[in-house]
Amino acid sequence: MTEGEDGRSDAVVVGAGLAGLTAARELVKDDYSVTVLEARDRVGGRTLSHRLADGERVDLGGQWIGPTQDRVNELVETYDLDTIPQFDDGLDQIAIDGVVKEHEDALRALPSAAYSELMDAFGRLETLRTQIPLEEPYSAPNAEKWDGTTVEAWKRETLETTAARGAFDSLLRALFTTEPSEISLLYFLTYLHAGGGIERITGVEGGAQERRIEGGAQQLSQLLANELGDSVQLESPVRAVTHDDSGVIVESDTGTYTGSFAIVAIPPTLAGRITYDPPLPARRDALTQRMPMGATIKCIATYEEPFWRRAGYSGFVLTDDDVVGFMFDDTAPESTTGALVGFIAGETARTWSEREASDRRDQVLADFARYFGERAGDPLEYVEQSWSNEQWSAGCYAGNMTPGTMTGYGDALREPVGRIHWAGTETATQWCGYMDGAIRSGERAADEVSRRLA
Ligand SMILES: Cc1cc2nc3c(=O)[nH]c(=O)nc-3n(C[C@H](O)[C@H](O)[C@H](O)COP(=O)(O)OP(=O)(O)OC[C@H]3O[C@@H](n4cnc5c(N)ncnc54)[C@H](O)[C@@H]3O)c2cc1C
Repeated sequence: MTEGEDGRSDAVVVGAGLAGLTAARELVKDDYSVTVLEARDRVGGRTLSHRLADGERVDLGGQWIGPTQDRVNELVETYDLDTIPQFDDGLDQIAIDGVVKEHEDALRALPSAAYSELMDAFGRLETLRTQIPLEEPYSAPNAEKWDGTTVEAWKRETLETTAARGAFDSLLRALFTTEPSEISLLYFLTYLHAGGGIERITGVEGGAQERRIEGGAQQLSQLLANELGDSVQLESPVRAVTHDDSGVIVESDTGTYTGSFAIVAIPPTLAGRITYDPPLPARRDALTQRMPMGATIKCIATYEEPFWRRAGYSGFVLTDDDVVGFMFDDTAPESTTGALVGFIAGETARTWSEREASDRRDQVLADFARYFGERAGDPLEYVEQSWSNEQWSAGCYAGNMTPGTMTGYGDALREPVGRIHWAGTETATQWCGYMDGAIRSGERAADEVSRRLA
């Protein structure tokens, strides 16, 4: 069902990413009418699948899924999509402090003192994260202390060797696409806990990088949008939401839409760029100012074959002294073409998003060649997506909390404002930052609205 007979919908959903589309689908299942307004000319938001010259589809946005990500796995099953295991055989490479080392498990290639320091630190993090109640991280026993500390400060207190610090920074950038000085320890622990801990979050087999969706992750949103049909309006950026006891009026570039409720399913930073009348309560507004997006440029190069495999390499690289911070083999199993994917992350991504695309390409390929030889510098095809340059994402993977945000304003993350409800992966209590979290958040917001409509 789309909008009601009088042109008013039960809910107007802002954003056709996984969160908004899931919320809409859940409401339609309950027989409510919805209108979904999407700023871009496509659905899927932070997922974006690209067709290469050889016909293979690669993901320039969200890609991997893994165990315990029950919601995304369920959706993959619902739409009968196949998944591809991430290739992980052979030697990983790690470059820390100017030295490249190899091992089947990248971190084990670190000098032994650095490795044991890092493992001790991970052990401590595992103990700390389990003390956090995921619905209310600000109620954790040491919440104020942890939220007043940056991850950078904690790292300096905990790790002494340069190699352990460098590896920690690289991992943090890979997970959050931000700098350790930019996020609070409490937020960091909450995120780790929401994803089931360090091993789960960083792992391939049994972890968050275990599989990807054949044909690309954006299909999930495209299939959800197909179900919703005409109720999804593209190229309709929402500029203003007026709300009172009787309903909401949502103004977009393509028209004005009325509804009983609104679900704003976009990152908090972008939600803060919409004009609200009456204005948002001070604490909700403050929250939207304190969750800056991470930054990443995802770069994929293809070759006639995955030649690094024959040389014994898995394709995985973790580095703190290149522009590209980490790399994976991105070859599709049945394809003869080989593919490498690299991520520029954090501050480096912000800097390099301002550079010429050709400079970026040259630099990324030089980084690939450092690890896999000259052949890696001469691809069949090269594609990239700089998420900081995308107006309707403003960065990626997600909005991260700065120090003081979780304890000061964390309770405003999901708390509805009048008839406005909030969704988006940032609001999830499990797998926040991930596609799975986005779906969970959409279900939660739909449930809240559905109860009020009933
Ligand atoms: C490079 C990269 C790699 C990633 N890797 C992974 C991964 O391997 N695994 C994983 O699970 N997750 C990954 N993620 C994260 C994952 O893609 C996101 O968590 C998820 O897609 C977020 O979905 P969402 O619906 O919450 O938000 P979004 O996808 O951002 O959807 C919000 C939608 O709202 C639209 N919008 C914004 N403002 C407005 C407005 N004012 N009016 C109307 N529409 C608006 C946007 O265009 C967008 O379509 C990655 C992301 C990136 C970018």
